Amino acid sequence: MLYNEPSELEVKVLTRRFGLENSQSLDTYLATEGYEGFRKAMEMSPEEIIEEVKASNLRGRGGAGFPTGMKWGFVPRDSDKPKYIVVNADEGEPGTCKDRVLMENDPHQLLEGMAIAALAVGARRGYIYIRGEYRYLIEIMDRAIEEQYRKGYLGKNILGSGLDFDVSTHTGAGSYECGEESALLESLEGKRGQPRIRPPFPAVSGAFQCPTVLNNVETFCNVPAIFRMGARAYAELGTPRNGGTRLFCLSGHINKPGVYELPMGFNLLRMIEEVGGGVRGGKKLKAVIPGGSSCPVLKAEECDVAMDFDSVAKAGSMLGSGGVVVMDETTDIVKVALRLMAFYAHESCGWCVPCREGTLWLKKLLARVDAGEGKPSDIDLIGELAENMLGHTFCPLGDAAAMPTISYVKKFREEFEERLRKASEAAESDLVVL
Ligand code: SF4
Repeated sequence: MLYNEPSELEVKVLTRRFGLENSQSLDTYLATEGYEGFRKAMEMSPEEIIEEVKASNLRGRGGAGFPTGMKWGFVPRDSDKPKYIVVNADEGEPGTCKDRVLMENDPHQLLEGMAIAALAVGARRGYIYIRGEYRYLIEIMDRAIEEQYRKGYLGKNILGSGLDFDVSTHTGAGSYECGEESALLESLEGKRGQPRIRPPFPAVSGAFQCPTVLNNVETFCNVPAIFRMGARAYAELGTPRNGGTRLFCLSGHINKPGVYELPMGFNLLRMIEEVGGGVRGGKKLKAVIPGGSSCPVLKAEECDVAMDFDSVAKAGSMLGSGGVVVMDETTDIVKVALRLMAFYAHESCGWCVPCREGTLWLKKLLARVDAGEGKPSDIDLIGELAENMLGHTFCPLGDAAAMPTISYVKKFREEFEERLRKASEAAESDLVVL
């Protein structure tokens, strides 16, 4: 189930079992150091487990990059309410396809990560919320869960640790918005997937209004390695404050698209050239989306950057969900901006006005410019409208639509102007002919 040939530059921590025969089976998992991390964690106190995760410098792989150990530390252990572990497997960010390969190739790694989180916060119930389009993965995860119950890795008193832990899958209906954590929780509870007012955050009031650890698939998959290797060795794989490796999804105009596991901080230009085999057809690099479609675009000259959360933020974008979309010199940026806005307008849940109306209005304006029917003032209007959405919407989807749009207009303004100029010249020459 590998989708691409591995690169020799990869550092295989999470993907070490990819390509093994029967990599979905618990026997293969156990034969390759599976549950060693859990066995070490079960000798530790909950506080020690959380300190270990903090020391690893693991940051959430879903997009925001929040320190995972700190997030777990917010769960009030003295609360008498049940605690939950929820996996966000609603991978929907355009350009991102790494959670699916993790679940497809190594489902037990995710379950071990969840079990360690359960030890840390005293949870007895876990859910894996999988997006509707990943229906085939539900079967894989359900088979893995069933095998773990049969062999004593889920259920009562797991491996004599004293932990009782039950896990089940839950499917979404294919809504991008349900990747937002509070909307995901609403959907998990059987309600319409719209976000909640926060605070309180899920650590305090999450699933069924109880304390909840909610992390992305890739985040949980890192946890067994932290305990198996030790937090320090894990942290040293990456850069300061950015521990471990990252699964980067290379797509677009690249010779060898695929999912590659590289150390945090791997240089983006090297990634394109040495891992991805360079830009397709020997063309020149024009721009890169470094972390999924909601991240501001980087121009070619901005791509000499270390791919960790802090360095990419310093370069004016975000590491996001690891979706690296490469665009060559032939790319039509107006069309890119329009295509992405059409996606966000479609996925807006409609709850708040700036996003519901703003994304539609932006889509119309971009379509008008793309068709050469706009006015020169439309370009400023697109930028202003997006700026006005920024920070004024109920959940991050509004920002996810606004931020890249602002970057396309700012960094490639001449392309927008050129589109309008060419259209007006064509109209004038038509008049002359008439
Ligand atoms: Fe819904 Fe508002 Fe979030 Fe857009 S920003 S998805 S309308 S809650």
